[in-house]
Amino acid sequence: MTEAERQAALDAIGAEVATCTRCRLHQTRTKSVPGEGTAATEVLFVGEGPGFNEDQQGRPFVGRAGDFLGKMLDSVCWKREEVFITNVVKCRPPENRDPEPDEIAACAPYLTRQIEALDPALVVTLGRFSMARFNPGARIGQVHGTLRAPHQDAGAPDALVYFMYHPAAALRDPTTAALSLKDMEGVPQALLDARKIRGSKADPADPVPAGEPVPSPAPTVTSQSVEPTATDGIVAETDPTDQLGLF
Ligand code: URA
Ligand code: SF4
Repeated sequence: MTEAERQAALDAIGAEVATCTRCRLHQTRTKSVPGEGTAATEVLFVGEGPGFNEDQQGRPFVGRAGDFLGKMLDSVCWKREEVFITNVVKCRPPENRDPEPDEIAACAPYLTRQIEALDPALVVTLGRFSMARFNPGARIGQVHGTLRAPHQDAGAPDALVYFMYHPAAALRDPTTAALSLKDMEGVPQALLDARKIRGSKADPADPVPAGEPVPSPAPTVTSQSVEPTATDGIVAETDPTDQLGLF
């Protein structure tokens, strides 16, 4: 897919989400929040669901949790505009309650389509509900700060997933804030590892088992499949192994 095609697919999803009535959350929302960022990115951040400010503005992570996410991105010299940010559910659960299983299921196809459109090398989950989408049964206290292959039903066969606490949890607890900043320090390396593993995917001798931590740095693969192809979007313009930044 070209970048223009990716953008068109994302826009089409956004337009559907704006008027979606697939679950009860549409009844109480002000604006739905499809997500935002660049279609050219290799990295997708997935939160839980919009809160008060997001519901008012129709944009993800624009309240206090968003400020902390921005601070964490700053700490690794990444910018919001260089990634794509979305949520498991696109409409605010009333009073910021947890999303219900049927709401998550109703909304899941939008995230699946966003992943297809972006084809990210790395998905960063923020919080338990996002973690559960990619590795059901995992425990956040055990998997935070690790890079793993997603569960086969997650709809992200070509991405690796890095788990983080929800930024709102960091606002409630200084220990979680410190752990989150530490975990964020690992995100650029996770991208390098994800690029490497993705490049070696054609090598069936070295599969990454779903849910198992990927050793970091990822083993260097010597097969020629590491080379990016001309159709790999922005990966084609970068060395797959040594660029810590995004652009
Ligand atoms: N919390 C989330 O999970 N997502 C947002 O967009 C904002 C706060
Ligand atoms: Fe539709 Fe998702 Fe909003 Fe439910 S949460 S109404 S499925 S966009």
